[in-house]
Amino acid sequence: MKSAKIHTFVVLEKYNKFYMAKKTKTVETPIDKRETFVSLGKKFADSADSVSEKLEILYQLQLTDTAIDRLVRLRGELPLEVETLEKDLEQIEGKIANINAAIDEQTNAIARGKASIVEGEAMLEKYKAQENQIQNSREYDAINKEIENQDLLIQIAQKRIDEAKNAIVSLKERLEIATEKKTIIEEDLAAKRADLETIVESTAKEEEALMAKRKSCSAQIDERTKIAYDRIRESNSNHLAVVGVYQGNACGGCMHIIPPQRLVEIQSGNKLVICEYCGRILVNKEQ
Ligand SMILES: [Zn+2]
Repeated sequence: MKSAKIHTFVVLEKYNKFYMAKKTKTVETPIDKRETFVSLGKKFADSADSVSEKLEILYQLQLTDTAIDRLVRLRGELPLEVETLEKDLEQIEGKIANINAAIDEQTNAIARGKASIVEGEAMLEKYKAQENQIQNSREYDAINKEIENQDLLIQIAQKRIDEAKNAIVSLKERLEIATEKKTIIEEDLAAKRADLETIVESTAKEEEALMAKRKSCSAQIDERTKIAYDRIRESNSNHLAVVGVYQGNACGGCMHIIPPQRLVEIQSGNKLVICEYCGRILVNKEQ
């Protein structure tokens, strides 16, 4: 059940992306090419299936798509918000991993510094023991110089340890802020996912039925008409490609008055009629 739901959701999201993501793109609609209308209509009529049956299937496809659009709208921005939060979470987790790596590096630097000091102090012990057996001033100068050097090295190591400790303090502050932020994102994401899940769950059955109906309608429509249908749908902000007649004489899509001759053709139901103003397919239905 769960996987079926997710599957439906994925299908619907793909469908949504197909139609909604292209909203801003300039689409070449069949209205730009009148000959496409003519050839499309001819192809439509040439087919073995009766034109009125095909028009009915197109109308059913439109009704199904409109119902799917409504479900997509119901989800609103939630799918996008979930996606954004998932990216934010990934980003903050990357940041936390980087901070932890930097803390490890500084911790290693402290360990190295401490080892240098232990080593340096052992050397100092050795030089101080040698100092007692000095034979001449040349040896004395040489040993003193070594002691001075070793002292300096120990000081440098100590300075590095202090710097690393300071760095760790500020890294831990950053880690704390990032961890808090991560918690907030996780909570937000969980809430949004739950909301989305609720909507998906409550509409899952309806969705499945609509997607099945869409598939069966699509299968009965020839490729060329399907492409034209998709293009008209994409080019209209309300995603209507097939419309009925509004108040007896106007296009149900753009409300322009339909010339009487065209109206007769629509009513006869045996010709593919396209609105001259908006390019939508007109069918003999009340809008
Ligand atoms: Zn129209």
